[in-house]
Amino acid sequence: MKKIAILGSTGSIGTQTLEIVREQKDIQVTAIAAGSNIELLEQQIREFLPSLAAVWEEEKANELRIKTADLNVKIVSGMEGLLEIATEPESEILVTAIVGMLGIRPTIAAITAGKTIALANKETLVTAGHLIMPLAKKHHVQILPVDSEHSAIFQSLQGEQENRIHKIILTASGGPFLGKNREELKNIQVEDALKHPNWSMGKKITIDSSTLVNKGLEVMEAKWLFDVKPEQIQVTVHPQSVIHSAVEFEDGAVIAQLGTPDMRLPIQYALYYPNRRSLSGKRLDLFELSSLTFKKPDTETFCGLSLAFTAMERGGNIPTVFNAANEKAVAMFLDRKISYLAITDIIEACMNQIDIIKHPTLEQVLDTEQAVYEFIESRW
Ligand code: NAD
Ligand code: MG
Repeated sequence: MKKIAILGSTGSIGTQTLEIVREQKDIQVTAIAAGSNIELLEQQIREFLPSLAAVWEEEKANELRIKTADLNVKIVSGMEGLLEIATEPESEILVTAIVGMLGIRPTIAAITAGKTIALANKETLVTAGHLIMPLAKKHHVQILPVDSEHSAIFQSLQGEQENRIHKIILTASGGPFLGKNREELKNIQVEDALKHPNWSMGKKITIDSSTLVNKGLEVMEAKWLFDVKPEQIQVTVHPQSVIHSAVEFEDGAVIAQLGTPDMRLPIQYALYYPNRRSLSGKRLDLFELSSLTFKKPDTETFCGLSLAFTAMERGGNIPTVFNAANEKAVAMFLDRKISYLAITDIIEACMNQIDIIKHPTLEQVLDTEQAVYEFIESRW
């Protein structure tokens, strides 16, 4: 039996991870954490019988303790709870499927405890990659990508250990507003932005996909995972989401991974790496595809992507500024407090406002997040 813990078990990635557990039957879930959905969390506890579960608020934890009094499960809460889930002694793999910088401390704790990381929580690498990658190396811990593009790159790199990457081709669906100009985006409402053409995901990443900020975060995620320079990453808009990404080697050979858009494949690949397992669901049928198309991203309209490249090139705590500003702005947009285009305006304003720290410590990364939040609250 493989033993895993999941941060964010009730979300899009978390529930799909549990679908794999249900289908494969040889994975034991030892610990799960969720934000506030204790109804679903209780169901998951009853089905998968972890020994440890966490919810964010202590009040909800108390409610859950009462609901699960008949079971042998310890319920914890808050950041301490997440750290306990991340380091639960029995588990070998931690699936990081929570959203945002909240994942940094649990990910660091899990690495220090020697757990393999199946990483979905890209915000953690974007903001603390300079701390996490060396720490993983020090503890001989593997960080296995769950993000579909990064899994595709990782799969394309198998057997190529001795060969240098010439270029990474990171594909982007382009999101629901592909082809629109800024004028047409002025009045976009929350409902419009939550409709992704190819993937069904959590709210925050769905908004990020529509602004191309998600692709910007993924460029930085790729930099850390595959140790490449900004100029080695090329974003290509590929609306069919069939080629999940590709690697070009020095001889010009391009190796890609293709498939139907189904997050269970990259999740399962990370859980069983380096082995592959059978997976239910629709298979890619090339005869069903009329065409595969590719074009350059429109970074004038979707300036979140160019801001991400700027943040990556400036380095230090600036990716944290980019990410924290986006996290806050997306939450405000979802609360209908700001307009759609204000999301990237806010990111840009924060990047101009906050002072650069070249080699931020964990504390400085978290302080930067706080400074960004305070700046946004004072201005918007
Ligand atoms: P989601 O919103 O569907 O799920 C988030 C999960 O985190 C939920 O279980 C929620 O309860 C939990 N959570 C939130 N706040 C918490 C807290 N304070 N304490 C404990 N748990 C908390 O998000 P998602 O779409 O599954 O995305 C998760 C991560 O994976 C993100 O970083 C996202 O960028 C990345 N990702 C997602 C997809 C996808 O297809 N959904 C694809 C690639 C990468
Ligand atoms: Mg992705």
